Amino acid sequence: MHYYDERLTDLVFSYMRDRLAMDPVPLDHPGVKDKLDAALAGLITAQGHDPAKVLEVYADQLAPAVISADSPRFLSFIPAAPTKAALLFDMVVSCASLQGISWLEASGAIAAENQVLRLIADKAGMPASAGGCFVSGGSAANLSALVVARDTARRTRPGLGVPRIAVSDQAHSSIINTLNIIGAEALVVPTTGHRLTGEALRAALEADGGRDVIAVVATCGTTNAGIVDDLAGVAEVARERGLWFHVDGAYGGAGLFAPSVRDLYAGIEHADSFVVDPHKWLFAPFDCAALLYREPRLARAVHTQDASYLDVLHTEEDEWNPTDYAYHLTRRARGLPLWFSLAVHGVDAYAEAIEKGIELARRAAGLVRSSDHLELVVEPTLSVVLFRRKGWQADDYHRWSRRLLAGQIGFVTPTGWEGETVARFAFLHPGTTIGIVEEILATM
Ligand SMILES: *Cc1c(COP(=O)(O)O)cnc(C)c1O
Repeated sequence: MHYYDERLTDLVFSYMRDRLAMDPVPLDHPGVKDKLDAALAGLITAQGHDPAKVLEVYADQLAPAVISADSPRFLSFIPAAPTKAALLFDMVVSCASLQGISWLEASGAIAAENQVLRLIADKAGMPASAGGCFVSGGSAANLSALVVARDTARRTRPGLGVPRIAVSDQAHSSIINTLNIIGAEALVVPTTGHRLTGEALRAALEADGGRDVIAVVATCGTTNAGIVDDLAGVAEVARERGLWFHVDGAYGGAGLFAPSVRDLYAGIEHADSFVVDPHKWLFAPFDCAALLYREPRLARAVHTQDASYLDVLHTEEDEWNPTDYAYHLTRRARGLPLWFSLAVHGVDAYAEAIEKGIELARRAAGLVRSSDHLELVVEPTLSVVLFRRKGWQADDYHRWSRRLLAGQIGFVTPTGWEGETVARFAFLHPGTTIGIVEEILATM
């Protein structure tokens, strides 16, 4: 199985070449279980198969049953738009099965990953001490960071009861999951205009007494609507009260690179931990989330795994072991595709591509505003647009969404807003044009 097979290599490389060259990639469809089961039936046998036959099953039956998140017509949830350079370098990471566990084993990969983490920390204005690692996604990053918040509080606050964490009613679902996993309770802070403010946090803490509240989570920006919390106000209250200040920028953190919205992020420099997903708006392939700590030693104290056969990893002070900054041990050097693409294209190209999504949201909002039967639900802040079709009920939106996908016009799923079903665009693919937006709006 381990010998170099030229024919197999050519076969797979040729498939990859074709996929990379597709412009645009097809949106494709959800699969049908019986059909997929039939395609896979008998494929894994004792003796194996000709790779050409297996690849054909993948290319003809499986791949078309995966909706392409990197299609410029994928406007649901949070889309993806990895650069070709990042995709290609992901293959290098795969080819070399490159790990990024410890400095001893993988210093070359880790040094490059840390160069990217430093760039992100600088964009956020975090101090020179800041550092962290890349994990699989925002969920893993939020969990890893809030475990550090919890255990730091346990160490420094004798007599702490069940830890509580202040969150807004707009926080991402992964934050609520995290609280369940780590045994923390939520102090839910009501928002004004779906935005968490320092004032609301202070009022909630005063009304509640704030006992055992150890941390606060702010979002920049919210997944549903792209709203950026009042980071400066929240940071100030966190400082007054000695709370850990966690900033979830899994989707919107990339806006730090966009001059037109950078002001919205004022206060982020005070974050104790900060998360941004390059597999969202920093154009890296799945799965890649950057996790930064203001004081990495606090994370090390919590996450370093203690086993006698690992002691050899933890000898030199300035050797950086990414494994010590999240709940993982083995990890892929998943920051390298972003590192390669950033080094190839330069940071300005990233700023420009991110601005494009913001600009498209503004233009789409303009189209909605100028249409008699459409209505903006809220002014877009980043690259998400929420709008309604006057007179439509939930069923109308769902039927419309299925019709758009069936016709391969777009993948646009509705969302909820204050109890109402509304339409939602999430832009970030630089290949999404105002023409595509017009085409979709015309179907309403
Ligand atoms: C997407 C998102 C997450 C979860 O990130 P995954 O990479 O999907 O695990 C967390 N928070 C926010 C604000 C997000 O947009």
